[in-house]
Amino acid sequence: MGALDFLKDIQGKVIDSDTYQLLERNFQMRAENNQILSEKVNLLQQTVDSQKKRIAELEEDNANLKGLLDGIKRDEEFRIYKGMALKKKSNGKFSEQPYCPNCNSVMGIIEGFIATCEACGHALTLDNERLHEIVKRLDENPE
Ligand SMILES: [Zn+2]
Repeated sequence: MGALDFLKDIQGKVIDSDTYQLLERNFQMRAENNQILSEKVNLLQQTVDSQKKRIAELEEDNANLKGLLDGIKRDEEFRIYKGMALKKKSNGKFSEQPYCPNCNSVMGIIEGFIATCEACGHALTLDNERLHEIVKRLDENPE
């Protein structure tokens, strides 16, 4: 029987002292129980909040570490030269395909001396050099 059912049941009735005390004690216990549950909810909410904060911190750390790792991988794999990244092939020679050092996209070559990245707009001119000459020089000076 719930509290409301009980109240409906005693409506209009004169209640004796024992029933009154039982009723009073029942309501006190409910109030105490609600207080305990409320504290529990607050505690759990604090735990959820601190866990959310911790997850956000770990996600940020993870993103930073991934970025760092990408940078390290790229440094091992690519040589940045005059604003373009040239990839070292598995045979240790450099490819003539330039990559964008900003966004890692493949760069296009216009007229043989302008390299552009369609993805982010990065562009550079090779001045008097040709890409195959640059690559040849990098191959001769691998470090
Ligand atoms: Zn780019």
